[in-house]
Amino acid sequence: MLVLQVDKLRKTYSSVTAVDGISFKVEEGEVFGLLGPNGAGKTTTVEMIEGIRPIESGEVKALNVDVRKNPHKLKEMIGVQLQEGSFYDLLTIWETLDLLSSFYKRSRDLEKLIALTGLEEKKKALVGKLSGGQKQRLSLAAALVCEPLLLFLDEPTTGLDPQARRHTWRLIQQINREGKTILLTTHYMEEAERLCNRVAILDYGKIIALDTPGNLIKQLLVKGFKKKVVETEANLEDVFLDLTGHTLRE
Ligand code: ATP
Repeated sequence: MLVLQVDKLRKTYSSVTAVDGISFKVEEGEVFGLLGPNGAGKTTTVEMIEGIRPIESGEVKALNVDVRKNPHKLKEMIGVQLQEGSFYDLLTIWETLDLLSSFYKRSRDLEKLIALTGLEEKKKALVGKLSGGQKQRLSLAAALVCEPLLLFLDEPTTGLDPQARRHTWRLIQQINREGKTILLTTHYMEEAERLCNRVAILDYGKIIALDTPGNLIKQLLVKGFKKKVVETEANLEDVFLDLTGHTLRE
């Protein structure tokens, strides 16, 4: 089943064409990655799909809802990971999630959600006192409050340590196994390779490639690509994880 259909989507800001007539589809159960250099148009695309930014031209159909015609209906059905600064510092984790769940007709069991995101020990802690990693897990929990069928994650592991990044990867895989379709943006190609069934690479507002990570790598090799430097058997991240372990810290 198609969960998302984007057709000739376009957005210009005075002289800049941020999104230049892009089209793609996302199937139910997929983790779909939107990749691209800074300024490629990822955020503009995602926010138009979410109904947050006005669509200049083109069509977006998400969960059978026409986003242009019915953005409010869509907002009840999708989960959007908010950035760190979007929460009240003086509320606890529990109060934050409880408040958010009051906005929706249906909402998830908060105890289970807090356990899923590894925040049990901190549920009575003030948001303002949380570490960056805990705030990021709160933002993931917040996106899941409404039991969304389609989840949007904008750079879900930016700024996290290697342990927290791996924890978030496992969490995203678990959420996906529960049946949620996920659209994520990332600047980490390792993350995209591990998590995404398919990726679209955006540059200057246009999709320049769209396929599974495996097929894109094969296509590069068919062109005769050879790595200039042979990959070392271990890198500094391996050293870091060997010394500090895989246990999630704060
Ligand atoms: P990043 O990886 O840095 O987050 P991005 O791929 O998400 O980048 P966008 O934020 O969508 O890219 O920006 C695409 C282009 O549109 C950029 O040239 C940006 O400067 C421009 N742009 C984005 N938002 C606005 C705005 N509100 N007003 C004017 N120009 C904008």
